[in-house]
Amino acid sequence: MDLRAWAGRAVDEISGWQRGFGEVEPHPDAVVSDADFAVAFEELLGRLRDTYPFHHPRYLGQLIKPPHPAAVAGYLATMLLNPNNHALDGGPSTTALEREAVARLAAMLGMPDALGHLTTSGTVANLEGLFVARETRPGSAIAHSAHAHYSHARNCHLLGVRSVPVPVDRLGRMDLAELEVLLGREDIGTVVLTAGTTSLGAVDQIDEVLELRRRHGFRIHVDAACGGFFALIADDAPDGVASAPFRALAECDSVVVDPHKHGLQPYGCGAVLFADRSVARFYRHDSPATYYTSAEPHLGEISLECSRSGAPAAALWLTFRLLPPTPDGLGRVLRAGRRAALRWTELLAESPVLSAYQRPELDIVAVLPEAPDMSTVDQRTTWMLHEGMRGGGAYLAALEVSAAELRARGHPVREDAPGARILRSVLLKPEHEHWIGRCHDEIEDLARRAAG
Ligand SMILES: *Cc1c(COP(=O)(O)O)cnc(C)c1O
Repeated sequence: MDLRAWAGRAVDEISGWQRGFGEVEPHPDAVVSDADFAVAFEELLGRLRDTYPFHHPRYLGQLIKPPHPAAVAGYLATMLLNPNNHALDGGPSTTALEREAVARLAAMLGMPDALGHLTTSGTVANLEGLFVARETRPGSAIAHSAHAHYSHARNCHLLGVRSVPVPVDRLGRMDLAELEVLLGREDIGTVVLTAGTTSLGAVDQIDEVLELRRRHGFRIHVDAACGGFFALIADDAPDGVASAPFRALAECDSVVVDPHKHGLQPYGCGAVLFADRSVARFYRHDSPATYYTSAEPHLGEISLECSRSGAPAAALWLTFRLLPPTPDGLGRVLRAGRRAALRWTELLAESPVLSAYQRPELDIVAVLPEAPDMSTVDQRTTWMLHEGMRGGGAYLAALEVSAAELRARGHPVREDAPGARILRSVLLKPEHEHWIGRCHDEIEDLARRAAG
């Protein structure tokens, strides 16, 4: 699709509609000339060049890529109107679009009757999940795995709830034997599980924790910010992912997913879903100023944020209209990244200079340069990161691991230092499927040069 043409169409349509209310002379104090604008804009465009090529398959570092052009067009058109999805008074059309997009997310996660809404981020979505957890289980602690996103401990701190980290197993998943010990010892009201850790894409065994819940009766909040869209390919197929944990989402109390990660959206789009719609009662508030046009609940009455742009809702709705969150729609995009991760793992198994840290569960692959000891692994990783980020082949990210973690995965590295950084990459773009061979060659080349 030709984004330039559709962006122009959006400007024409919205400004034409606005003119229909009668011409408004812009106030001279806010008027900017094209000549002045050109100078400032060129300066901005120049400054924006100080970044990394997130769009390119050679960039495999963080969970970043430009949004789908459909999301950009939807966002841009809506931003020209600037609706506020706090209340129907602020954004009637985008409130409806948000409800429809959230219903599709809920269906994707197997929670078709959930109460939910978009948020500006996964962090805020998780804060809401834990806020409801606290209100439902006052006085109890919240457990999360030691590899859970750092924001859970901080969100618990903000909420004044004690949080307890649970050690992880050999694959970076919550160790369920350790969880059981904890449940026998302490009053744990809520267990936070992660479907796709940010570091390794490890998926906690949600299905097995459902069994533990039958005996201990805690709440389950799932942080699927990173991995939620993998529900679309959770079919145990050779190029899919394990179905059991994703099928179990249907029985969890709350789930968070970030459309701004694998959902092709620009930043500013997270979501939280609650199985029990009556949790809306915890959000009740009296605002004398905002609600006016409807007796129906407004999105602002079931969310912690007040003003929130309607543009992300429109962008997500338009993307889903074209690439629906179904196995045959967006699922195909996820599957290409998954195939790239599996293919790379095969290539790494034959590499004399690199090895896969562990088998990837999703599309995140951690890799270490072959080296005799911890400090050399760290030095080579650091050199490869810097050389890659200077444009020397591939843009990667880092992950700190311990000697014990390396040993548990069968990497016999001499422990001359307690920890080392290794390389971490995310194959977030479907284009990686056809580029991974070239990326692997480039990264092998970096590793050879790092070894001198
Ligand atoms: C990214 C991420 C978060 C935080 O989400 P933001 O949208 O960055 O605020 C939380 N949990 C996991 C597992 C994540 O990957």
